[in-house]
Amino acid sequence: MPPLIDFHSHTTRCCHASGSMDAYVEQALAKGIAEFGFSDHSHWMLHARDQRYAMRADEQDDYVADVRRLQERYNRDGETPFRIRLGMEMDFIPSRLDVARDTARRYEWDYLIGSVHNIGFEKLQEPAMYDAWHIEDVCEIYFHFVGMMIRERFCDVVGHLDLPKKMGSMPAGGMLRYVEPLIPDLLANDIAVEINTSGLDNPAREFMPGWDVVEALASRGVPLTLGSDAHAPHQVGRHFDKALAGLRKAGVKELVRFERRRMIAVPVA
Ligand SMILES: [Zn+2]
Ligand SMILES: [Zn+2]
Repeated sequence: MPPLIDFHSHTTRCCHASGSMDAYVEQALAKGIAEFGFSDHSHWMLHARDQRYAMRADEQDDYVADVRRLQERYNRDGETPFRIRLGMEMDFIPSRLDVARDTARRYEWDYLIGSVHNIGFEKLQEPAMYDAWHIEDVCEIYFHFVGMMIRERFCDVVGHLDLPKKMGSMPAGGMLRYVEPLIPDLLANDIAVEINTSGLDNPAREFMPGWDVVEALASRGVPLTLGSDAHAPHQVGRHFDKALAGLRKAGVKELVRFERRRMIAVPVA
């Protein structure tokens, strides 16, 4: 059977995840995942004075060291090979590009996920935002930032591409019309889009992005990868059976994985 991959997971350093890093790895092994990536939140994420959603800058070295320790312990060759990959989910904040670039250079990452979590001080995962603003306007500004991020070649993978729907809002015409204009830039910059299976557990009740968008991306040759966005060990590989069935139905033949920021195709399991 072709290898299964999960390239999006977090650790307790981000202050909104639970479980030991070992427990995430154990769950990946139990689920038959062959490549498992840690991609915890970057330290320059925006947060209010009394809240924190990401590791501190001075925890970065320890995060990388912990992943290295787990690689030593768990990576194996043989009949059922297993690899842990070093990644980070980096917040795209235009004024903090320098710190992101510095972090990108400082470690030997296997991959970087680029995510837009905020519009100004508004958090896209805060339900109140959608009471206050029109979803169309939220999408307009959000996708503008995602486009900037792609053209900056900020990352290897775009995280949860259609995040504004997560809390249950959907623009009348769907998400595709916001994603379509980004496709040439994704292709030109060789950036993949993750199928983030966490969306199914949120009010959106579907993966991020949804299948209409996945099909459009696949038909144009945009590389796709797979991630559970696990914030607890039991979420590793969540809903992957549904993801694989959907990919087969959509005629997607391969996904991509990453190694030292090189993109490598893997057949769909
Ligand atoms: Zn998170
Ligand atoms: Zn995220």
